Amino acid sequence: MEVCVIGAGAAGLMAAVAAAKSGAAVTVLEAMDKPGKKISITGNGRCNLTNRGIQNAAPYFSDAPETADGILRGFPAEDTVHFYENLGLLMKEREGGLIYPYSDQAQSVVNALLQEVRRRKIKLKCRERVVSVEKKQDRFYIKTEGWHYEADRVVLACGGKAAPQTGSDGMGYVLAKSLGHTVTEPLPALVPLTAKLPFGSLLDGVRSRAGITLRIDGKAIAREKGELQWTGYGISGIAVFQLSSQAVRALQKKKKVEAEIDLLPDFTESELTERVRDREGTYEEILGGFYHAKVLKALLKEAKAAAGEKAVPEKIGSLIKMSKHLRLHLTGSRSFEQAQVTAGGIPLQEVKETTLESRKTKGLFLAGELLDVDGPCGGYNLQWAWASGYAAGSSAGKGDL
Ligand SMILES: Cc1cc2nc3c(=O)[nH]c(=O)nc-3n(C[C@H](O)[C@H](O)[C@H](O)COP(=O)(O)OP(=O)(O)OC[C@H]3O[C@@H](n4cnc5c(N)ncnc54)[C@H](O)[C@@H]3O)c2cc1C
Repeated sequence: MEVCVIGAGAAGLMAAVAAAKSGAAVTVLEAMDKPGKKISITGNGRCNLTNRGIQNAAPYFSDAPETADGILRGFPAEDTVHFYENLGLLMKEREGGLIYPYSDQAQSVVNALLQEVRRRKIKLKCRERVVSVEKKQDRFYIKTEGWHYEADRVVLACGGKAAPQTGSDGMGYVLAKSLGHTVTEPLPALVPLTAKLPFGSLLDGVRSRAGITLRIDGKAIAREKGELQWTGYGISGIAVFQLSSQAVRALQKKKKVEAEIDLLPDFTESELTERVRDREGTYEEILGGFYHAKVLKALLKEAKAAAGEKAVPEKIGSLIKMSKHLRLHLTGSRSFEQAQVTAGGIPLQEVKETTLESRKTKGLFLAGELLDVDGPCGGYNLQWAWASGYAAGSSAGKGDL
């Protein structure tokens, strides 16, 4: 059995190892000059390779959650940890079950995978960008910009469109389409969001803890607490990333999308009012200990209170209320260059549940971010890449299906 894996990212390298383990002769074709470029920039260069808290597909977005669920259960986070332990990678666990290489270097993960690729005698060819895949009778004919290859089976693992500088430029969708698949519009996710800013650029550069409620057509659909970063164009930070997939999908459907921001998420409104009761002085004196100086300045401007003015109790109450229910009208997101993942892609309904073999072209398997599955920050997306790469590769490498 000859298997050709297209794309040497997380899903493709895992698929190659799994196919070789099943007994196939494996060739991996990679467009870039080096394999695993995206893995090496994950987790701020430290690579959050999985998360022990992942039990099922509930935190993921997908067109076929049951299929995603089956794949994730077939190769859970524990298997990822064992897999890397067997490759000699030392790992550490952070709060919330997040797993990182002990070295804090994402490249250690790439190096471990590449050692296994060599050990299993997998042929890895870089600077081989695939431009077409054709199936004639039972053989696949794969053309790159400079050469051509043949195989009995193909695993397509070209990624989505996020961070195209690492190689995932959307070519995988073109190849999948040419083999009979459809593509749900790819959108940037885990990405900063653009907004109409109530305070103009007054808060540009401010980072603070916040609670953010995502409202779609007025209805609260998700809430996150964490770091919020104000920028000249809108909002960023982990809490924003976690809500971005739902926000971009709703914006694409032309829905009204708002972020309701709570600038003091660890206190209730009455707790805060209690703390300022009977206090006298200017607004800055009374509220200076509550907010970042730039935030307080913006709030005072919005409440039309002059600097140094003596505080009026009712106005203090309304300032606190405003800071706990600040509504931003979201207008869109930053581009794929600033996104960590892609929402959308090849519908999971177009692949078989356990093998990830295409329902359109027999002998073709799909894996990774190319498929319509995306998860939150915290090791979820790499876990999907490992699990789907394993399912596709081990099935592609088997004699009969
Ligand atoms: C900055 C950043 C940080 C991230 N941090 C984390 C994290 O800490 N934890 C986490 O779980 N997830 C993280 N992610 C997400 C995660 O990295 C991806 O979801 C995952 O790497 C996707 O794997 P993949 O193999 O499907 O695609 P990719 O990693 O994109 O790999 C696809 C490969 O296919 C190659 N290719 C594309 N087209 C062709 C072609 N025509 N011919 C040949 N080769 C081709 C590309 O060059 C690329 O090497 C992060 C992403 C980014 C951008």
